[in-house]
Amino acid sequence: PAALIWFRRDLRVGDHPALTAALESHERVIAVFVLDEPSLRPIGGASRWWVHGALDSLAEDLAELGIPLELRTGDPVDALHTLAAEQNANRVYATARPGAAEAELDARVHTELGSHGIEVHFAAPDLLVDPGLRTGEGRPYTVFTPFWKRALDELARRPPRAVLPVPQPARTPTAVNSAAFAAALDHLELRPTSPNWAENWDTYWSPGEAGAHERLADFLDEDLGDYPDLRDRPDRSVTSRLSPHLVWGEITVSTIWHAVDEHRRTHPGQGASFLSELGWREFAHYQLFHFPKLATDPWRPSFANFPWPEADPELLRAWQTGTTGIDLVDAGMNELWQTGTMHNRVRMVVASLLTKNLLQHWRAGEEWFWDTLVDADPAANPFNWQWVAGSGADAAPYFRIFNPELQAKKFDPNREYIRRWVPDTGLRTAPIVDLKASREAALEAYRKRE
Ligand code: FAD
Repeated sequence: PAALIWFRRDLRVGDHPALTAALESHERVIAVFVLDEPSLRPIGGASRWWVHGALDSLAEDLAELGIPLELRTGDPVDALHTLAAEQNANRVYATARPGAAEAELDARVHTELGSHGIEVHFAAPDLLVDPGLRTGEGRPYTVFTPFWKRALDELARRPPRAVLPVPQPARTPTAVNSAAFAAALDHLELRPTSPNWAENWDTYWSPGEAGAHERLADFLDEDLGDYPDLRDRPDRSVTSRLSPHLVWGEITVSTIWHAVDEHRRTHPGQGASFLSELGWREFAHYQLFHFPKLATDPWRPSFANFPWPEADPELLRAWQTGTTGIDLVDAGMNELWQTGTMHNRVRMVVASLLTKNLLQHWRAGEEWFWDTLVDADPAANPFNWQWVAGSGADAAPYFRIFNPELQAKKFDPNREYIRRWVPDTGLRTAPIVDLKASREAALEAYRKRE
């Protein structure tokens, strides 16, 4: 019999415990990816664009191991069951993911395939520390600093597992028909056509494992040294841009951790602030693990009855289309539209404007980001939206309202970022909101919450 390796958010062949286990236990291995699993939140447009490239790259790497990649849609139980019957497979391997819907689905797959005599094995999700970690009082951590301090203590005692090499090819390789794969991939229609809003994205991104490793190597060589001082500057591109690669598991966080460690031998003193950003990724996943409704419900119970005013489609539209008349916000929203990403500092500013000055629900912003970010992540996206809105874990206090003009002065001092994304056409509209008055109104609304 064969084994199936079910790829989800782990689109790589190196450092892949589940793939390695499949190849060790079975002579013949078949890979499968299931798009649009019905019980999960459908991925957004930018993510679909990314996944097309990532699957293309994965299929090539798998072909070298003698493993074909099958593409399916719909309920994974049916898809896996049918494929297992076709291929005479008796075991499925996969990597666990955070999230309640994901865990529920995996439990169903485990039980239902099990009833047909097919074993399902899940490898641990790609995290640095066990999400079961608790405070001395036995409660989940709610504040980042003590969480990360504890995580670093754990990591000093027990570093992340060693990076696994790319596995040896299957002992009984299966011939791979790349033309049939290309046709099946096109058939999923993951990339936009009319209009093709992602026309230039290949110049910004290289989805896939090789692209992820190149990104990491370039970042360590060129930017890690400047990272602590310049990471908040949208006009300087010193951040790693690894987020979509991490979100789709094209590189593991353990690989990054060990690479930074190695780099520090020749560049002592570098890396701590970058690792602490990976700590925020851990913290977001940790919160999703302990609070599975992160994408829909306020993490802080005191926000349950927050009187969000009626949604205002016009305000939301102006924000989405980068036509608020507020330079840094419009620049960020244009960067997002044109490249599928936005600098972290600017994400905070646009999110603050939407949830505070415009008093629109954070979920409206989270949904827009979910659709337009190439790194849209089930943990990091709602976690950060709630953080900015004030309803999240270790969140910015409600009275912290970013002033986009001061932020621009401080972090884009020569207006290079703004000029790059808001061409000076002379047609700029007046701001849709008075920053000072709306700040006062937001403070009032937020103050009343308790
Ligand atoms: P770097 O500065 O190089 O950081 C390295 C890695 O650390 C990132 O790739 C990411 O994996 C992790 N990281 C850094 N900051 C954060 C953070 N605040 N929270 C969680 N992980 C972090 N990040 C996503 O990966 N997906 C999202 O959907 C997402 N939505 C966001 C929404 C809002 C409103 C805000 C304010 C932030 C959001 N972030 C999200 C976090 C952050 O903006 C991005 O991770 C970062 O901009 C990615 O660029 P980079 O890879 O160059 O980051």
